[in-house]
Amino acid sequence: MPTIALAGNPNSGKTTLFNALTGSNQFVGNWPGVTVERKEGRLTANPAVKLLDLPGVYSLSPFSPEETITRGVLLSTLPDAILNLVDGSNLERNLYLTSQLLELGIPMLIAVNCVDLMEKRGDRLNLAALERAFGCPVRTVSALKGRGVEALARQLGHLARLPAPRPWVRFAPVLEDALKGIEAALPKQAEPPPRRFWSIKLFERDPAQAQAVQDRGMEARIRRTEALLGDSSDALIAAGRYDQIEALLAHCLRKGQKKDASQRIDRILTHRILALPCFALVMFLVYFISVSTVGAWLSAALDEGCFGQGFFLFGLRLPSLPLFLSDLFARWQVKPWLSSLVLDGLLGGVGTVLGFVPQMMLLFACLSFLEGCGYLARIAFLLDRPLRRFGLSGRAFVPMLLATGCGVPAILSSRTIDSPRERRAAILGCTFLPCSAKLPIIALIAGTFFGGAWWVAPSAYLAGVAAILLSARLLQKSKRFPRGEAPFVLELPSYRLPSPGSLWRGVWERSSSFMKKAGSVILLSSLAVWFLSSYRWQNGRFSAAPSLAEGLLAQLGRHLAWIFAPLGFGNWQAVAASFTAMLAKENAVSTLGVLYRSAEGGNHLAQALSPLAAYAFLLFNLLCAPCVAAVSAMRRELGSLRLTALAVSYQTLLAYVSALLLFQFGRFFDGQGFTPGTAAAMAVFLALSWIFLLRAP
Ligand code: GDP
Ligand code: MG
Repeated sequence: MPTIALAGNPNSGKTTLFNALTGSNQFVGNWPGVTVERKEGRLTANPAVKLLDLPGVYSLSPFSPEETITRGVLLSTLPDAILNLVDGSNLERNLYLTSQLLELGIPMLIAVNCVDLMEKRGDRLNLAALERAFGCPVRTVSALKGRGVEALARQLGHLARLPAPRPWVRFAPVLEDALKGIEAALPKQAEPPPRRFWSIKLFERDPAQAQAVQDRGMEARIRRTEALLGDSSDALIAAGRYDQIEALLAHCLRKGQKKDASQRIDRILTHRILALPCFALVMFLVYFISVSTVGAWLSAALDEGCFGQGFFLFGLRLPSLPLFLSDLFARWQVKPWLSSLVLDGLLGGVGTVLGFVPQMMLLFACLSFLEGCGYLARIAFLLDRPLRRFGLSGRAFVPMLLATGCGVPAILSSRTIDSPRERRAAILGCTFLPCSAKLPIIALIAGTFFGGAWWVAPSAYLAGVAAILLSARLLQKSKRFPRGEAPFVLELPSYRLPSPGSLWRGVWERSSSFMKKAGSVILLSSLAVWFLSSYRWQNGRFSAAPSLAEGLLAQLGRHLAWIFAPLGFGNWQAVAASFTAMLAKENAVSTLGVLYRSAEGGNHLAQALSPLAAYAFLLFNLLCAPCVAAVSAMRRELGSLRLTALAVSYQTLLAYVSALLLFQFGRFFDGQGFTPGTAAAMAVFLALSWIFLLRAP
C-alpha cells in the first residue's frame, strides 16, 4: 500500500488539504506550528493510499521537535512519494524546502496552494515552466475552497510509480567540486541513498552529522571552500538555493499589482508606535466581551438555572438540579450524610466550577478568532524583541496567552518552541499567569477586601508577567539548562477569515481539557474537601464533626498554620484553602466560602484577614505550584520527574518569597514596627538582589 507524506512549510494549508483529501477533522489554525505530531489518514477517493500529515517545517535541518519528526519520517521510514504543498502567496520562502525535498530521490508532486489568494492579487504562475525546471508534476489547488482537490486526489493514486525527480539546485562550480568530493567519500551502500542530500548536509555541518564530518576528514575540504568563497558553508548553501529560486521565479511568476488587504491592515496593526495600543485595545475588548459583560451574564444565567433557583420558561419553573435532588431526597428519606455528600460535596464543588464554562468558551472563541485570522502571529512578532532580553522569544507568547485560559494546553503548546532552554522557561513560567480557575480567587479577594477595586485583577496579571520574566532571567543565568539559540522564523500569515468549523475546533480543543478536569480532578477533590471538613479523627476512628472548625481540614490547617504566619495568613481556613487549591485553583474559593459561612448565613471572611494579608494570600495562590492537572502536564513535557519536582519547588518558593516580601515590607511601611519578620524579609531581599544584580549573566 503506497504511503504519501504531505510536507510543506508551517501554515501552508497542509492540514486543510489533509482534511479535504481524507475527510478527517484535524485542527487547523492560521498559526505556524499547529500540527506537532504526525497524523495518518486514507484518501477518500482511493482508500488504498495512505496519507501522512507531517508538522510543517521551513527546512530539513532539525532545529525543533517538529522538524525532527518530519525529517525522521522522510529519511527513515521513507515514504513512497511526497506531496509537497507550497503556499502560492509566499513562493520564495516555500520553495526553499522544495529544493531540499527534490534531493531526497523520492517521487514527488508539488501542489501550489491558495490559488484563490493568488488570483485575487492578480499573480500569474507558469506551471509548465515550473514542471520543466523541477522535473516533477506541479498542480494548483485551493485547499480551503476545495478547488483542484479531486483532480489532485486522482493523481496521488499513481504518484508512487513516477520516476523520482533529480536534484534541482546547482551551486557555484567551486562549491559543486567540494560537494562531489564529499559525495565520493560517502560509504557505498547497496541501494542508492539520497547521496546528494547527505553530501550537502555534511557540507553544511548539520548538527546531526557532526561526527561523520570529523570521522571522514571532510573538515579540511569544507574549510578550504569556505576560505575560497568567503562565507560559512551553511550560508553558502542557503544563498545558492535562494539565488536559484529567485532566478526561477523571475521568469515563472508575474506578481499582480493589486495591493493586498493584509498589507494595508498591517500598516496600522504592526505600526511602530500604534501596534501596542492596538494590542491593548484588542485584549481589552476580548476580556470585556468574554469575561465581564456577555460572559458574566451567561455564567450567571447558567449558574442560577442549573444550581440556583432554576429556569423560568413562560411562567413555568424548571427546578435547578440541587432543588430537584433535595426534593427527591426528602421524598425518598435518603440518609442525611448521603444527601449532604451529593448536594454540598458534589454539586457544590463541581457546580461553582462549571459556572465558569460559558465565560471560558467565549474567551476561547475570541482567542481562536484572533489566532485564525492571523493577528496573534503579529503579536508574537511584535513581542519578540522585548522578550529576547529575558531569554524568551515571540514564540513564548503562545503558551502565555493560552495560560490565561488554562495552564494545561499552555504547557502542551510549548512544544513549538525551538530552543530547549526557552521551552523550559515557558513551561515553568506560563502557569504564573492567572488562569481562568484563578479568576474566582481574584474576584473574591477584590470584592471582599478592596471593595471591588479596578486595579486588583490587572495587578495579578502584572505579577504573573513579572514572575515569568524573573524566572526566565534566572534560567538564563543557570548552567543546568542547555543554551542554544535557534533562529526565530515566524512568518506573518495573510489575514484570513477563519471558518466556523475551525473556530469551533479551537474552542473545543481548549475547553474540553477543562471540562474533563471538572469531571475528574475537581469532582474528586470536592468530595475530598467535603469529607475532610465534615469528619474528624477522634479516639482512633472517624466520626462526623459537629462543626467545620473541628473537621480534619481544620486540624490539618492548624498544624501547618505556622508556616504561613510570616505571610500574614496563618489561620487554618486560609491554609486549608491554599491546600485544596493545589487540586484545582477554584477550590480555594469554595473552601473559603464553606469555612467562613457563619451560622446566621452571612460571611465573615472580611474580618478574618487584613487587606494586606488577603493580597499576600492572593499572591501566594497565584504563583505557587499549579494544580495537579498542570503539574502532570509539566511532567509530560519536561520528560523528567526530577525536573518537574525542581520546577514545582521553585514555583512554590517564589510564591512564598513574594508573599513574604509583600506582607512584611507592607507592614513595615505601614508603620507597624520592625519585627523579626521584617529582618527575614530584608535578608531574603538582599540575597535576591545579589543573584540578579551582581552575578554576571
Ligand atoms: P498547516 O499549518 O500547513 O497545517 O496549515 P493549516 O491547514 O492549518 O492552514 C493554515 C491557514 O491557511 C488556515 O487559516 C487555513 O484556513 C488557510 N488556508 C488553507 N488553505 C487555503 C487556501 O487554499 N486558500 C486560502 N485563502 N486559505 C487557505
Ligand atoms: Mg497543520
